[in-house]
Amino acid sequence: MRNLYFLKSSSDPNYLEITFQFTPRKPGKQVIQLPIWRPGRYQAQNFAKNIPVLKAYSGGVPIAISKIASSTWTLEASEPVEIRYSYYANQPDAGGSVMEPDLLYINFINCLLYIKGRENERCELHIEKPDGWKSVCTFKNGGKYRELVDSPYIAAPAIFQHKWKCNGVKFSIDVVGSRQALTKKLTDSYEKFTQTQLDWMGTFPVKEYHYMLWVCPNPYYHGVEHTKSTMMVMGPPDRDAYEDLIGLGSHELFHVWNIATIRPAELFPYAYDREVAFSTGWVVEGITTYLGDWFLYESGVWTRQEYLAGLLGNLKLHFDRDAGAQQSLEESSIDLWLDGYGTSLPNKRASIYYKGAVVALALDLQLQAKNGKSLKEVMHKMNAEFGQLKKGYTKADFIRICEEVYGGSLQEFFQNYVEKSTDITTDLQEIFAKSGLKFEKDSAKGWTLQ
Ligand SMILES: [Zn+2]
Repeated sequence: MRNLYFLKSSSDPNYLEITFQFTPRKPGKQVIQLPIWRPGRYQAQNFAKNIPVLKAYSGGVPIAISKIASSTWTLEASEPVEIRYSYYANQPDAGGSVMEPDLLYINFINCLLYIKGRENERCELHIEKPDGWKSVCTFKNGGKYRELVDSPYIAAPAIFQHKWKCNGVKFSIDVVGSRQALTKKLTDSYEKFTQTQLDWMGTFPVKEYHYMLWVCPNPYYHGVEHTKSTMMVMGPPDRDAYEDLIGLGSHELFHVWNIATIRPAELFPYAYDREVAFSTGWVVEGITTYLGDWFLYESGVWTRQEYLAGLLGNLKLHFDRDAGAQQSLEESSIDLWLDGYGTSLPNKRASIYYKGAVVALALDLQLQAKNGKSLKEVMHKMNAEFGQLKKGYTKADFIRICEEVYGGSLQEFFQNYVEKSTDITTDLQEIFAKSGLKFEKDSAKGWTLQ
């Protein structure tokens, strides 16, 4: 028996009308839940604020449903149940849902209920869209709820696409909002870094992958990773977004391995109904930030000079902004749920993205200098021991694998870079020097790398 979801626009602008049908496994109390957060942003967003009320029916007759927590409801039933509700879809970012006259964009994790404990059950989805509109979504009916909420849906009067195959995997760039964004320069670059990443990791976990892009009317830059797709929102249409789009696309593609497949134990499986603290956010975002840029160089999209400029940019985001952070990287990872994305107290937070990228860079250079190995061997082992076995990793697992590749202890390194808020400037300068690079600060020019 599949759980069924029907979605259509309502006469009220911005509201989606949703019907959810399920059959109780056992007669009695059924606990209905809406996710409070979405993977990719480790912060409660409480999507239930967009649902005024739920109504429940069984055999066409209304039955009682009680709200017992902000995102939780219960009802008593023994026969098939239908729940009807409206969802206010007016969050125009990559992780939200939005209805506009020429666009329907839905993240199902925002708006589709599930029965607690039944997240692995098969689902069927039916969406009504205006006649003639095109749509893209990687979810196939019969997939699990977990897959459904990892598959954003986009529909519009026109979707501009570029499709190709890489190592047997079908790739597509799907653009809404502007045909101009899909230049030959952009599609060539996407093909190059995609090829390099797939060759570098050796295996790709899925058979089809979509780079979805909404070119929105306002200045904006946002991307969210998924297993079979990424959603990128970029605007306005008249700016040259090429550099941002290659950086974002390369970053999000590496997340197919580094989070969608190779995932911290705390997030395996995802618990959508509560905050889940994890101290390895720097592995997820730091390594992805560092390698996402490096793949642009390795694939020939960026010259060495362009790469070093990009790297310096990331280094500055740590050393100019967060070098005095009182928190260690793992404390800031746990605090993602508190203040990981907006502003935080001055000198409190270390960025899992930028300090995380410094850790990844330092680790990679240390490995290369010691025995010619690199982060590549680390990520291959992480994929073989955890990703491919669908097992979550701990911080100790990651450190052990790094030490195996290094052939020695890295305890002091991880203490200084990750567990404490030690000043790592001198240490990093020494690591750079061993690789023939000078990273220094000049009172006139600020930080330079050459
Ligand atoms: Zn990321």
